[in-house]
Amino acid sequence: MVNIVLFGPPGAGKGTQSEKIIAKYGLKHISTGDLFRKHLGEGTDLGKKAQSFMDNGKLVPDEVVIGMVDETINEFKTAPGFIFDGFPRTVAQAEALDALLAKHETSIACMIMLNVPEEELKKRLLERGKTSGRADDQNEEKINVRIQEYLNKTVPVAEFYTHQNKICKVNGVGSIEGIFDQISLAIDGHYA
Ligand code: AMP
Repeated sequence: MVNIVLFGPPGAGKGTQSEKIIAKYGLKHISTGDLFRKHLGEGTDLGKKAQSFMDNGKLVPDEVVIGMVDETINEFKTAPGFIFDGFPRTVAQAEALDALLAKHETSIACMIMLNVPEEELKKRLLERGKTSGRADDQNEEKINVRIQEYLNKTVPVAEFYTHQNKICKVNGVGSIEGIFDQISLAIDGHYA
């Protein structure tokens, strides 16, 4: 199994690049944002627990996210590997992910970090909000809260993977293909 964490602030291009990674490597995509939006749409208890946090651009509590990821890994344990998108977003989530994968005798191969300047992120999110229908992309105040949550709680996750020597930094500004080429180079090293 080759398991990848795709890391970066909201608007860094994680969704776009995930699609290309899945198409090339056949990994199972686990996007916690997509999973939450599905629960919200279906009106499940989990969706109800997540809603107020999502509406305000805040992170959903760790135990809720970790439980949902645990279930999804169990459901797809025969996959050739996972790509985690938008998860882990706190150090507690990163520690929990290591433990969850260890139960399946596997681990994270590398963490790909997409770097994009803050002004470019805001521009991209507001642009995406015009067509995505996502309430959290349409309001500059909410976008600022999400970026602050990222800086306060998610940036330390990069340290966590740096200590494990698993981080690979990619410039997230440029053409989609050019960025994907850099990502492919990083992933290919784990198939050698
Ligand atoms: P995203 O689609 O990744 O931008 O996520 C949308 C929203 O879902 C976030 O603003 C959070 O409220 C929630 N969310 C998604 N993933 C996580 C996570 N790993 N930890 C906490 N909250 C999350």
